[in-house]
Order: sequence, then structure tokens, then C-alpha cells
Amino acid sequence: MSIVLGVESTAHTFGIGVVKNGKVISNVRDMYTTKKGGIIPVDSARHHRTVAEDIYQRSLKEAGISEGEIDAIAFSQGPGLPPCLLEGMKFSKSLSKRLKVPLVPVNHCVAHLEIGRITGAKDPALLYVSGANTQVIAYAAGKYRVFGETLDIGVGNFIDNFARYSGIGFPGGPKIEAIAKKGKEFIDLPYKVKGMDVAFSGILTNLKQKLDSKKYKIEDLAYSMQETVFAMLVETAERALAHVGKKELLLGGGVACNSRLVEMCEKMCEGRGAKLFVPNKSLLVDNGAMIAYLGEIMFEKGLGFKGEEMENLDIKPRQRTDDVEVRWK
Ligand code: AMP
Ligand code: MG
Repeated sequence: MSIVLGVESTAHTFGIGVVKNGKVISNVRDMYTTKKGGIIPVDSARHHRTVAEDIYQRSLKEAGISEGEIDAIAFSQGPGLPPCLLEGMKFSKSLSKRLKVPLVPVNHCVAHLEIGRITGAKDPALLYVSGANTQVIAYAAGKYRVFGETLDIGVGNFIDNFARYSGIGFPGGPKIEAIAKKGKEFIDLPYKVKGMDVAFSGILTNLKQKLDSKKYKIEDLAYSMQETVFAMLVETAERALAHVGKKELLLGGGVACNSRLVEMCEKMCEGRGAKLFVPNKSLLVDNGAMIAYLGEIMFEKGLGFKGEEMENLDIKPRQRTDDVEVRWK
């Protein structure tokens, strides 16, 4: 029985959530955006520093608790952009010191998977589709294993890059989804699935050439892009489900806000007698509640750090999902 506060800061979002006995009691966040162009890591880090105190106060208020009730602080240790991760860790360490409670380092990708329990998923494979990450992850034989992943860029970054090239700011995903709805003609694009892995950079180059040629409508390109890359993602997710013998597919990451992707996943799951779980948007995107949720599970197993050990914790910008030492299951 505990109250754990979680801090998320891996990329564009600074979020703080509070979990009490496995229930999310607050989840507040603020996102760094741009009108034109992509994320500049140091600018995003500055954003996090600027909003941190306000998000903290609002999160406590939403949770209806005072800071003295907090039993532990959890933070996103990696993977992510180093300047952004550092801001989150600095904030968390100083809070942990001031409140004299342990600090729990959490892997961001595993948190996306574990928060799926709130939706009722028990042992799912996660299709994790965010800005920087694109992976199919499942827990098998004592580890979180990556069954398939992007060989180059994350699908969200791919979509944002396509959007940026078309003159749309960050994040481009929601705008591209709206534009794609008006597309009528399907344009053939490269389809890049290699085993259980996917690749996007060749498709991006192809799309840019098509935009430059001015022969195609942006609506048709956006529509065809979604149909093509979502089919690639669904194909690898299905192969992973078959491979690990799981009957639940969970979605995570901002790209899973896309209703066409959800629809395609639904069809695939229906076809093979599997169940699809889609957390509500506030738990799908980067958020502090999922960090607090996994943080509480780890804290209950004694995996918090104090004193010098806490001071020595560091960020892990390139931490891989399958490198996470699982000591709480
Ligand atoms: P995350 O890194 O998980 O917070 O997700 C951010 C990414 O999700 C960005 O690349 C967004 O462009 C993308 N995204 C958000 N909403 C949508 C949408 N409706 N369709 C496609 N991508 C989206
Ligand atoms: Mg994420």
C-alpha cells in the first residue's frame, strides 16, 4: 500500500502522475511543440525545466494529496534524449532528497507495457509506436523481449518528418491523420518488412520525391502512407503474437492515437481470436502516471534507492528494453 509519484521527461513531454495502490490518482503533463521543424533537445529540456514546478503542484492538487504522503519518487531513466532525461532526473533527485523518500529508476518502454494492466490486459504483446520508438515487446522467459523493431527511425518521427517536409509543424501525426481522411487514390509506396522488423527511411525518401514532383495530392500521399506503414506494423505485430503464442495485443505510444491504426489492429485481432487493448489517450502518450505505476510495483519489491546510491543513479539514454534487469516479477 503506497503512494508513488512518477516523473516522465524522455522527449517532448514533461509529465507527473501519482499512483496509489495501483490506481492512477493524477496524471498532468505539458508538451513541447514547434510551429515549424522538429524537436531541438536542449529547447525541449528548457521547456521541462520551466514547467516542472507547476506540473508538480497541479499533479498533487489533482491527486488530492500533500507531498508528505508520498512514499517514493519514480523517474524515466531511459531511453530518451539526454538533455531531457537529465532535467527529469535532476528534478526527481532533489524531490527525493527533500522528502527523504527512495528514488526508483524506471524504463520508459516497459512502463508503456505495464500500464496496459489498467486496461485489463494480463499478458499482452505491446505494439509500441511512438516518436522515437517502434517495437513489438512482450514478457517471455524472465525478460521483456523485443520481437520486432524499426531498423532505422521510429514511426512517429517518420510521420513527423513527412509532415515537416510538407510544411506542417511538430507533432505532425494528428494533422496527417486528418489530411489522410480526405485521400481517395491509393499510391503505391515501398513496403519494408524484414522478418519481424520494419524500416521507414526508404519510404520517407520516396514520399519526399513524390512531394517534390508535385504530381500527387498531399491527401492521397498521406492516406497511402498510413495504409502502407500501418499494414507493416500490423503484420509484424501479428507475427509476434503467433511467435510468442499470446492472445492479447496492447497498443502504446502516441501514434496509437491514430484511429486508422487502431481499426487495422482490431481487424487483425478479430481474425486470429486475440483481444486488443487500447489505453485511453492520457495513458497512451508519454505520461508520468505510467512511470508511477511501474515505480510502485518496483518500490513494493524494495527496488528504490536512497543516500549515496540514489545520488549515483544516472540516466540511460540508450537503454534497450531487453537489457532491463527484471527483479520485480
Ligand atoms: P510519443 O512519443 O509516444 O509521445 O508520441 C508522439 C508521436 O505520436 C509523434 O510523432 C506524433 O506525431 C505521433 N502522433 C500523435 N497523434 C497521432 C495520430 N493521430 N496519428 C499518427 N501519429 C500521431
Ligand atoms: Mg513513449
